[in-house]
Amino acid sequence: MYDILIIGSGPAGMTAAIYAKRANLNVVLFEKGAPGGQVVSTAEVENYPGFKKTSGYEVATNMFEHVLSLGIQVKFEEVIEVLDLVTHKVVKTTDSVYETKTVLITTGAVPRTLGVKNEENFTYNGISWCAICDGPLYKDKKIVVVGGGNSAVEESIYLSSLASHVTVVQNLPHLTADLKSQEILRNKENVEIIYDAKVIEFLGDFNLEGVKVLKQDKEILIPCDGVFEYIGLRPVTDMFKNLGILNDYGYVKVNSKMETSVKGIYAAGDVCEKQIRQIVTAVNDGAIAVQNILKYLEQ
Ligand SMILES: Cc1cc2nc3c(=O)[nH]c(=O)nc-3n(C[C@H](O)[C@H](O)[C@H](O)COP(=O)(O)OP(=O)(O)OC[C@H]3O[C@@H](n4cnc5c(N)ncnc54)[C@H](O)[C@@H]3O)c2cc1C
Repeated sequence: MYDILIIGSGPAGMTAAIYAKRANLNVVLFEKGAPGGQVVSTAEVENYPGFKKTSGYEVATNMFEHVLSLGIQVKFEEVIEVLDLVTHKVVKTTDSVYETKTVLITTGAVPRTLGVKNEENFTYNGISWCAICDGPLYKDKKIVVVGGGNSAVEESIYLSSLASHVTVVQNLPHLTADLKSQEILRNKENVEIIYDAKVIEFLGDFNLEGVKVLKQDKEILIPCDGVFEYIGLRPVTDMFKNLGILNDYGYVKVNSKMETSVKGIYAAGDVCEKQIRQIVTAVNDGAIAVQNILKYLEQ
C-alpha cells in the first residue's frame, strides 16, 4: 500500500512528489505523456522567480531532474479511474491497479479548441496549440494567432521572431494579457492585432490557406499558412467524474488545504477551481497538498 499516488507530472505533481519524498512518504508519480505538463510546450517563461528569462522546456527539465535525483518512482502510465473504498483508495491505470492511502490529482488542463468549420480537417496540419513545437514550421510564413490573454500574447511574441507576419485575432475590444507583454507585442513591426473579431472557418483544400473572420457583421479573409489557438483551457478530469468532486466546468473543487470533498483525495494546480493558473500557483498548491496529506496520514 502506497502513502500517496500523484496523478500527473506537471509543476504541481512534481513539486508534490519532491515534498512527499523528502518527508519519507512512499510515493509514485504517474504520467501519461512527457513529464513537465503544459510547461514543456511553452516557448518563453519570464515570470517564474529565479529564472529571468528561460524556456518552458528548461523549467520542466530541471524540475524532472530534481524528481529523478531524489529517486522518486515515476510510472509512465495513464490513470483511468480512482475509487474511494473508505479504508483506502484504488488507482487504475492502463497497465495495472494500485492501492494507496491518499491520492493527489494534478492532471492539469489542455487547450480548448474553437469548434468552427473545417477545424478538424486542419488539426495538427495547419492548426497548432504549441508554438515552441510547431513554430519553426512557419519560418518566414504567415501566421494567425487566436486569443488575447497571456498565452496568446506571449506565444505571438515568440512566433513573430520566426514568421514573416503574425495576425492576432482577439474576440474582445482589448487584449487581456499583462501590460508589459502587450507593449512588447504592439512594438513588433510584423504583428497586426484585429479586435472584436471571431474566427468562423478554416479555409483550404489539402493545406490550410487562411481563416474566415467575422468582425462587426463583416466577413474578412486572412490568408495564412498556420494558425495557433490560445483561447483558454479545459480541465483533464473525465476520469474523476465518479468521485463527485468536480464543479460545473469540470474543475476539481478544493479548500485551502487542497482537500476535495472525499477524505484522502486531494488536488493541486491547474486542475483545481482557482483564480490564477500559472507555474508558481501550481507549485504552491503541490506543496500545500503534501503538508496536509502528511497530517492526514498521521491521524
Ligand atoms: C502556451 C502556454 C504558455 C504558458 N506560459 C506560462 C508562463 O509563461 N508562466 C507561467 O507561470 N505559466 C505559464 N503557463 C501556465 C502553466 O504552464 C500552467 O499553469 C502549469 O503547467 C500548470 O501545472 P499543473 O501541474 O497544474 O498541470 P499541467 O502542466 O497541465 O500538467 C498536468 C500533467 O498531468 C498529466 N496527466 C493528465 N492526465 C493524466 C492521466 N490520466 N494520467 C497520468 N497523467 C496525466 C499530463 O500529461 C501533464 O503532464 C502557460 C501555459 C500555456 C498553455
